[in-house]
Amino acid sequence: MTSVVIILGPPGAGKGTQAMRLAVELGLPHVSTGDLFRENISKNTPLGELAKTYLDAGKLVPDEVVIDMLFSRVAAADCANGYMLDGFPRTVAQAEALSERLDSDWNTRAVQLDVQDGVLVERVVGRLLCRDCGNIHHETFSPPATDGSCDACSGELYKRTDDTAETVLERLAVYHGETSPLISYYSERSALEVVDGARAPEEVFADLRTLLVTSEASQQEAR
Ligand code: AMP
Repeated sequence: MTSVVIILGPPGAGKGTQAMRLAVELGLPHVSTGDLFRENISKNTPLGELAKTYLDAGKLVPDEVVIDMLFSRVAAADCANGYMLDGFPRTVAQAEALSERLDSDWNTRAVQLDVQDGVLVERVVGRLLCRDCGNIHHETFSPPATDGSCDACSGELYKRTDDTAETVLERLAVYHGETSPLISYYSERSALEVVDGARAPEEVFADLRTLLVTSEASQQEAR
């Protein structure tokens, strides 16, 4: 059985931070659709050009575009034994396309990082990303030891252009309108776990680890 792990949650819930660490623990590639779009934007590809207007406005890129991009990424050899999804699916149509793609050999598990809206704006607006390793700092909650430089690799830290107060409100509205129905979608399929994401990253990680890494190991032993 091969696993697809889906990290669900609003912008600023900690999906990127947690998915990056969990992927290492589980030995799965971390596949972030937002990162794939940002990579295309920075390389000025036609896909990047198309996606940029949506990202800047805090809107969702159309389903068929995201699905095509994601499916070609997960067709790569490193995803043959499973992968960790961060930022996908974001609509029910995307979830349905994913489940049609996966046959019964695949075990799909979704984890929702539950965080109230009030906390999210501050988390997103202060976010700092490393250009080299993708590590995530925060101006107030986890400032780097040296200004502008990543603690993990000394790479340059930058702010995402869509991490503004205005865009985050739009992204939250999009989340509540289009993505939150996925909570019922996976819960109805008995594939959803919920973790309180409003705590310190270490505490959230400890719960996710117990939930996913430990149970994955016992599943493997049972096989
Ligand atoms: P993220 O890095 O996950 O916060 O995504 C940044 C932006 O990329 C989103 O606000 C959307 O504009 C776009 N995006 C990422 N993933 C998806 C998706 N699954 N469906 C549609 N748009 C997406």
